[in-house]
Amino acid sequence: MKIKNWDTFAFVAIYHLLILALLPAFISVASWGAFWLFMITYIIGGMTITVGYHRLYAHKAYNANPFFEWVILLGSALSFEMSALMWSHDHRIHHNHVDTDKDPYSIKKGFWYAHVLWLFDYKREYDKTLVSDLLKNPRVVLQDRYYLPIVVAVNLGVFLIGWALLGSALASFFMGFLVRLAMIHHSTWFINSLCHTFGSKTYARELSAVDNAVLALLTFGEGYHNYHHAFAADYRNGIRWYHFDPSKWTIWLASKFGMVNKLRTINEVTVQKSLVLKDKKMMIEHLNEEAGEIAAELKSKLEEVSTIFEEKAAAVMVKVRELKQATDDQKATLEQEAKILRASLKETWDEWVALTRKATKQFDFDHAH
Ligand SMILES: [Zn+2]
Ligand SMILES: [Zn+2]
Repeated sequence: MKIKNWDTFAFVAIYHLLILALLPAFISVASWGAFWLFMITYIIGGMTITVGYHRLYAHKAYNANPFFEWVILLGSALSFEMSALMWSHDHRIHHNHVDTDKDPYSIKKGFWYAHVLWLFDYKREYDKTLVSDLLKNPRVVLQDRYYLPIVVAVNLGVFLIGWALLGSALASFFMGFLVRLAMIHHSTWFINSLCHTFGSKTYARELSAVDNAVLALLTFGEGYHNYHHAFAADYRNGIRWYHFDPSKWTIWLASKFGMVNKLRTINEVTVQKSLVLKDKKMMIEHLNEEAGEIAAELKSKLEEVSTIFEEKAAAVMVKVRELKQATDDQKATLEQEAKILRASLKETWDEWVALTRKATKQFDFDHAH
């Protein structure tokens, strides 16, 4: 790979080298205050990207009021990840063309390419139509136009405040700028490298994106990347209550304060239905190449269970819709009916999961990819 973006390369290389060079001097001024300055700026810089750039702007997973938007548009200056407009532009390309040549940070070009090297290689072909919705947002346009002065002002301000509080310019610069920058950058880059490499593929086996709980810790919940690629419109990345997804919690909490609304979620039935259809398609395609009675039997069983699942899923959805339009005295009965339908759907879902597990063991489907 030839470096095309020398300015980006120089910036990234220099701040990494500065960390190494200044580390010995920093040790003598290290303090808990410096650590907290790092933590606060790391959390603000990181979360404004995940909550804001990613889930609000790139995916429009909820709506936010102007105050909330400005917190994002200014706070994200701590992360040095371009303007919200450019970030969303590139990220939408990543989702539309994941695992192909057009993907700016394609894992197919290698782990380190997806992690950081793409930054030095990538020439953006700016396509306005990809972000036409964001161009209608005056705040996003303003941040894009004045991105550089905003970055300089916010970072200089943070540095001066840190200096005043810690009594050491070096401690403020080292922990509140250099180390913060490195941590934010590497955890963001991990999403493109590690989250397309090590983890489980529960929701979309055909993609390189994976779910990885350890990475979710580092990335404010973005480690559930397989689910995210399968259902990008969902404001959650970790959909279970026990998933560590502070970005989801922040958005939810902000909605309780009226700062954001229209939180979009994909309901469980839709998620399961899509999984059943995808699993079935993949498995039948492979079974078609197998001869023998077991394959034929399995094929008809897959067809049978998936058809029952689809029928039951449709019935649940009808009931949910009825419930939405129901009067108060109809509600109790309908709710009871919905409960019975859901329980029955769950039985078929469990049957489906067991069946696909058995089939995967027998025919080694995972390795067929
Ligand atoms: Zn995304
Ligand atoms: Zn991805």
